[in-house]
Amino acid sequence: MGKLYLVATPIGNLEDMTFRAVKCLKEVDLIACEDTRHSKILLDHYEINTGTTSYHEHNKYEKAEELVVKMKQGMNVAVITDAGTPGISDPGEELVKQALAAGIEVTSLPGPSAVITALSMCGLSSRRFVFEGFLPPDKKERKEALARISGDTRTLVIYEAPHRIKKTLKELMDNLGDRNIRICRELTKKFEEVMAFSVSEAMEYFEANEPKGEMVVIIEGLSKEAALAEEAGRWEQMSISEHVDFYMRQGMSEKDAMKAAAKDRNISKRDVYDALKVQK
Ligand code: SAM
Repeated sequence: MGKLYLVATPIGNLEDMTFRAVKCLKEVDLIACEDTRHSKILLDHYEINTGTTSYHEHNKYEKAEELVVKMKQGMNVAVITDAGTPGISDPGEELVKQALAAGIEVTSLPGPSAVITALSMCGLSSRRFVFEGFLPPDKKERKEALARISGDTRTLVIYEAPHRIKKTLKELMDNLGDRNIRICRELTKKFEEVMAFSVSEAMEYFEANEPKGEMVVIIEGLSKEAALAEEAGRWEQMSISEHVDFYMRQGMSEKDAMKAAAKDRNISKRDVYDALKVQK
């Protein structure tokens, strides 16, 4: 059996290629490229003469089957995409699934990925984050995705194309509010920049300036206070004891939790106390 090598390639700067990636691409029997013409620039730069074949979004199922047959016959295959780590918001994922299902060994040679590059330099919290890739194009799925992420307190990362950024910003404004965002453009390239905005400022900016270049959008997660207020706002669906429990889970003492619940419900602390006593 051959092996499948996922090889990360630069996201803009040709020098971001690891020694191991170059060695691997020289040694495998075949390189599956998202766009053979695009990858030729990289392969020529590193004098890699291995044969290539195309593997992209529109042939990913049938081509993955073909490549699996070749690996079963003993060929070692590397997969590279137009930029970054194969399998991250690109067709690499399907080939990995099929190879693993066929019992083929899969390994990944780490290197650049736009999500990590952007997150590491954007200045927003990077301790906990959610990567959404491209938001779904389907209207209903997109609405669901936006609703799902709107309540998340983790930093949100999405990929977006310049011609869709204005529409996406409007949707972010409508669904997530006027949060802090970063637009990380042209990473690793000559005109790399991290633009720090609120969503409304970004909308204004792109009204006056044509959006250009590849971009990653990073959005501050919902603040803990806002998440708490949102949940507390749903107290009408809670019993008095659930309401008090809710505040205690946020770290309040029982006394303070009873006080907060009484205030929300516009009743006396005594009423809360009595209700809890009845339940006990
Ligand atoms: N597999 C890639 C990775 O590991 O990052 C991502 C592939 S996805 C098809 C392409 C998207 O990645 C672009 O639309 C853009 O959002 C982001 N991207 C790629 N290169 C970038 C760069 N140099 N600067 C900013 N964003 C980039």
